[in-house]
Amino acid sequence: MKYIPTIGLEIHAELKTRTKMFCDSANNPDEERPNVNICPVCMAHPGTLPVINKKAVEHVIRVGKAVLGTIADYTEFDRKNYFYPDIPKGYQISQYKYPIVSGGTLSGVQITRVHLEEDTATSQHDKGDYSLIDYNRAGVPLMELVTEPVIHDAETAVKFAKELQLLLRYLGASEANMEKGEMRVEANISVAPEGSDSFGIKVEVKNLNSFRVVAKAIEYEVARQTKVLERGEKLVQETRGWDEAKQSTFSQRMKESSHDYRYFPDPDLPKLRLSEIAEFQNISLPELPTEKRERYAHDYGIKSEDIESFITDEALGAFFEGVATALKDRALVVLASNYTTSDLLGMRANGADIFTHLAPASFSALIQMVASGEISSRGAKDILKILVEKGGDPREIAAHEGLFQKSDAGELKAIAEKIIAENEKVVAEYKAGKTASLQFLVGQGMRASRGSANPEMLRKTFIELLSA
Ligand code: ADP
Ligand code: MG
Repeated sequence: MKYIPTIGLEIHAELKTRTKMFCDSANNPDEERPNVNICPVCMAHPGTLPVINKKAVEHVIRVGKAVLGTIADYTEFDRKNYFYPDIPKGYQISQYKYPIVSGGTLSGVQITRVHLEEDTATSQHDKGDYSLIDYNRAGVPLMELVTEPVIHDAETAVKFAKELQLLLRYLGASEANMEKGEMRVEANISVAPEGSDSFGIKVEVKNLNSFRVVAKAIEYEVARQTKVLERGEKLVQETRGWDEAKQSTFSQRMKESSHDYRYFPDPDLPKLRLSEIAEFQNISLPELPTEKRERYAHDYGIKSEDIESFITDEALGAFFEGVATALKDRALVVLASNYTTSDLLGMRANGADIFTHLAPASFSALIQMVASGEISSRGAKDILKILVEKGGDPREIAAHEGLFQKSDAGELKAIAEKIIAENEKVVAEYKAGKTASLQFLVGQGMRASRGSANPEMLRKTFIELLSA
């Protein structure tokens, strides 16, 4: 029997705001000193009152618009009650019945909802026979996005998470770095016999802190659950974690249900009628990743791998757009794209800082020089290296380094005549119809010019001389 996996994702992202979700303590994910960004509100002192962070609501509305979800007319915050030291109030303020966003799609995956809540403190249990707790993160605005159970493989799940990360960055809503915990993915996974009309029992895997781990945990769970069912045993609904050392998931706790949290509307916070709040009516969207992809494909005709490089790296994309605008001609733009994604990115991978000295204008001039045959592609690479290291004018560099290809008809003729005189046998073969011999002669000519001849013009010179 074949088992079909089903996956639904729950993704949290820390929002980029100046202050926390319900107080004016700083929201600074880079703060290294523990317990400095705290105040009586986020420390849950008695008698304090929370105030909703407008910017955080705006971020979630913007995300909702970008995924074409429905923005609620009415929304409210609820208390999710549980006790743990990382949640000083004894409850987390979240949204239950009335999320800000319902529905929507991203990367072909249906979204159930997007809501707003507050982050917990961070705790450390690995120091000894005590625990440490840092409340800097307690109360930081946290967006939660939940997808429908419509994903069937790890690759699609990772693709969705990456697309969400990109979108959050484009919207300025979150830095969404997984390694910093700014974006956190939980995968709900079940398997069911092919053709069955109900879902299997799902397991929720938490703490997946990289895309690689998301993929591995899903693959591991699908294999584990399939084996359990094949042995005729039953699965239990539970929360599992990822063990990086063992490369496997492990049971953390049995799943709690929503009634365990005794959700109820937070009486300290106002209800929000979003459609009546003036500031939320004209929230604009920047160009979205999908729109940019289409524009690049349409305007530049470059290959999709190149487009992805420009979409995911906004500085590189901006640089390339400057180059493309200067070049105009599509063939030149495609050539510029090749040099950017192979040579420039190659240099950056080796540690070079590619934006400090290299101006889009000198890069486009270089592309024009190589396209017109003034310099060879080898020469272009050498000049590019100099442009990246110290900048300058590509023409001056080419002249200084002797990289202009010889296009002087007289000089090329002299070279070709010399090679013809030295290679009587090959010349005879060529005249007898062996076209491959021409390549040999051109190669000899290039060597004689120590690579400086324009190969295309040299080839034409040979053809002319030999057909005479
Ligand atoms: P819970 O009440 O346990 O949080 P929800 O129904 O709210 O469960 O769904 C939470 C997440 O689990 C969603 O992302 C949803 O797509 C996913 N999910 C629900 N049922 C299944 C299933 N049988 N298999 C895989 N994922 C599922
Ligand atoms: Mg859940």
